[in-house]
Amino acid sequence: MPSTTALTVTSTEALSPGLVRVHFRSDDLSAFAGSTATDRYVKLVFEGGEAPVLRTYTAIDPDVEAGTVAIDFVVHGDEGVAGPWAARATPGETLAARGPGGGYAPDPSAAWHLLVGDQSALPAVAAAVAALGATAVGYVVVEVPGREHEIDLRAPAGMEVSWVYAASAEETVGDDAVAGSPTLVDAVRALPWRPGRVQAFVHGEARAVMHGIRPYLLTERGVPRADASISGYWRRGRSEESFRVWKSELATAESAAAG
Ligand SMILES: Cc1cc2nc3c(=O)[nH]c(=O)nc-3n(C[C@H](O)[C@H](O)[C@H](O)COP(=O)(O)OP(=O)(O)OC[C@H]3O[C@@H](n4cnc5c(N)ncnc54)[C@H](O)[C@@H]3O)c2cc1C
Repeated sequence: MPSTTALTVTSTEALSPGLVRVHFRSDDLSAFAGSTATDRYVKLVFEGGEAPVLRTYTAIDPDVEAGTVAIDFVVHGDEGVAGPWAARATPGETLAARGPGGGYAPDPSAAWHLLVGDQSALPAVAAAVAALGATAVGYVVVEVPGREHEIDLRAPAGMEVSWVYAASAEETVGDDAVAGSPTLVDAVRALPWRPGRVQAFVHGEARAVMHGIRPYLLTERGVPRADASISGYWRRGRSEESFRVWKSELATAESAAAG
């Protein structure tokens, strides 16, 4: 992720009670030229403490010519850096963004699509939905805290959209007690499996995704890894720094188990 882009807030807009879109302008969005991944993301750099803090966010609709880009932030309370910043962001504030990274875009040759995420992945899921061909078929499953958090996804007619409502944090705390929020995992398992090659995009709270949905798709359903973009976007009870430690411990444990 070599490039750094300077972003200036131009406006903010509430997409739902828990999701705020921050619009930015930049004199130079050339880092985004030719980026076709719908899950393109940047590392936002928050200064102010002893050391800069990096937070990862999906970049929405970067327009290199117009010099505009947006980011949808989950407003998840007072904890953390990026969520609270977005809740109070005002025009004129500046941030640096490193990137973009990203590697997924809907493959028109897939027989069907499975797009799954929680609110943190809703921006990337929405971008994927917008990039699907009109004849695309499959499922979109999004977990949000409640009905009032749903947004208009405008999916092709063949994409069945379902919303599931998140279990409260109290029901899902504890590191090993439960394999993730039951609602998103159960909703995915309950989908009728379709024939032909699926392309899957599954991101969100790490335990639900990595311990709940990933084994279902890769092991039980035999989805090839090349057809599955699956990762945790955040981890309940952990900041992004300590989540990175969790991810690297999981990767080490998995490579040891694989021999
Ligand atoms: C590739 C990628 C793309 C991402 N895109 C987006 C995006 O477009 N929009 C977005 O909102 N997030 C996105 N995320 C997730 C985002 O990076 C994390 O949610 C990040 O931890 C938020 O930082 P923070 O400073 O607000 O909270 P942190 O300081 O990291 O965490 C503070 C506390 O808040 C909790 N927390 C963090 N995120 C959430 C959440 N979403 N819901 C509830 N509690 C939370 C943590 O568990 C911790 O207890 C993305 C992550 C990745 C890896």
